[in-house]
Amino acid sequence: MNKFIMRKLIQNIFIGLWIIFILILIPNKFHTCHQFCPYAAICFGAMTFSGYFAYIQMAVIGLLIAVSSIFIGRKFCGYICFLGTIQEYLFKLNPKKRKTKLPIKLHRTLGVIKYIILIITFVMALFLIQYFYMPFCPVMAVSFPKSIPVFGIITLIIIFVGGFFIERFWCRYLCPYAALMNIFQFAGKIFGIKKHVINRNWEVCIDCGICTKNCPMNIDILKYEDITDPNCIHCLKCIKVCPKEKCLTFK
Ligand code: SF4
Ligand code: SF4
Ligand code: SF4
Repeated sequence: MNKFIMRKLIQNIFIGLWIIFILILIPNKFHTCHQFCPYAAICFGAMTFSGYFAYIQMAVIGLLIAVSSIFIGRKFCGYICFLGTIQEYLFKLNPKKRKTKLPIKLHRTLGVIKYIILIITFVMALFLIQYFYMPFCPVMAVSFPKSIPVFGIITLIIIFVGGFFIERFWCRYLCPYAALMNIFQFAGKIFGIKKHVINRNWEVCIDCGICTKNCPMNIDILKYEDITDPNCIHCLKCIKVCPKEKCLTFK
């Protein structure tokens, strides 16, 4: 089985598991929702500093996933996260697709928002006032089909409408968990830790730019020999569309 089919298979298995989980196991069960949420690394992770240890298991698992990005990049985003996969499928429905690409300056500025959201949520959770932002949480929104908070609906609309027009809109600009993984990757880089990355063979590359045009995270691949950009989600799209064989390969 080739790596592209394998990725789709893994994504579909996880989206199936998420659907079973969301529709059958956790609907309207407040505690179960938190017990299985990987993003709990942020809220409940921060709350442990203030002596609140409920859901510590998911905080630890979520933290381990985030730490793993130091070594394997954001494979979680490219293979496992249901919000990412939903956006990927949603964007496929958009007939105009890449015509909605944002100018690079705006793209970079918007990319900062997720770090601000991470700081706000982390600090609020640290002071145990997480209940102010929790109604915005997309995982909580899908976990409470009978009583979605109105702010949760707003978040879901932003994810779905944004993701329809701009590929992986939430992942690129707003996801605080992405910001957490990126921070760990920056730290790994400072300590000289080598991460699993895609390499561009300059001797084979013809600089056609097809890879950059197709990157869902808007990464300027032509800037890199090793694609070390922390926003790379290892989706393999650049490898798939590259016209030169063995030009882009995992290192
Ligand atoms: S950026 Fe956030 S929402 Fe997107 S795939 Fe990664 S964890 Fe999921
Ligand atoms: S698509 Fe392949 S050949 Fe074209 S610029 Fe990208 S890496 Fe080089
Ligand atoms: S297209 Fe390539 S560079 Fe862009 S996110 Fe996917 S794997 Fe990373």
